[in-house]
Amino acid sequence: MTDNQMQDKPYFCPNCRSNRVKFNVVTTYSQSFMKDAITGSVTVQEDPLQIAEPEPNIQCRVCGFTGNELRFVKQAEREPRQNTNPGQGL
Ligand SMILES: [Zn+2]
Repeated sequence: MTDNQMQDKPYFCPNCRSNRVKFNVVTTYSQSFMKDAITGSVTVQEDPLQIAEPEPNIQCRVCGFTGNELRFVKQAEREPRQNTNPGQGL
């Protein structure tokens, strides 16, 4: 199994619309454990398994919004970064 395959494309946060640079990739893990029915203490704990997801979830580090990677890619395609006019950048 490979790690989350992130696309080599620009992102743009669809929520705060001010961040194209700082992100987290959010991975879901599942960890099995057994509990003692009387005391409630954990008796067996297995190694965490990464849950395979079709697309990575991306979190914006500016506003904290988390969403499917495609939402960030689509937003960047709708509002591409303008390099030719620094006055209207971001
Ligand atoms: Zn954001």
